Amino acid sequence: MHNVFPSPHPLVAHKLSLLRNKDTDPRNFRELIREIAALLTYEATADLMTKPITVETPLANAPGVELQENIGLVPILRSGLGMVEGVWELMPSAEVWHIGLYRDERTLQPVEYYNKLPVAPTVSVTLILDPMLATGGSAVATIDILKRWGVKKIKFVGILAAPEGIQHMQEHHPEVPIHLGVIDERLNEHGYILPGLGDAGDRQFGTG
Ligand code: URA
Repeated sequence: MHNVFPSPHPLVAHKLSLLRNKDTDPRNFRELIREIAALLTYEATADLMTKPITVETPLANAPGVELQENIGLVPILRSGLGMVEGVWELMPSAEVWHIGLYRDERTLQPVEYYNKLPVAPTVSVTLILDPMLATGGSAVATIDILKRWGVKKIKFVGILAAPEGIQHMQEHHPEVPIHLGVIDERLNEHGYILPGLGDAGDRQFGTG
């Protein structure tokens, strides 16, 4: 599949199995979300641009690099919030922007209820964080907003995805790379990913 990158890493696969397990409690679930988010971010940021610098070591000058791009994180509420800490462990200065969407019961379309983006983009690369790419509706709506805002480089980082969500994303935003832990079988009639892990928000926050 073009522009879709399921992680090949055994550590991700191992942690995913722990995450799926129905007996994993919220504390361990949150820890796993954080760790997997960090591993996937490592993969998703492999093409970030750098500029050469010189570093003074205690002994001599050494050639080094500095990241040239500043990163913005957009967690999809609420379950994307748990991924932010993992990304911050690698990139503590990444800005976090919150966009709130809910699904209109009648039209089933995402509706924006909260948006704190500044007037003009302050970041050059945005990572959208959502552990579950299910129907893809929220991801597509979030990318629509970010594109209108003027962000040029957008990447999606998710943990589990359904083929239906990937397809929906690619119909609307084929140029946005999708970095994933794993691609599951399908959505069920309630929009849950199968075999999945249940409700990622409830499992993180101990609700439901
Ligand atoms: N959101 C979840 O939390 N779980 C799913 O399976 C699908 C969407």
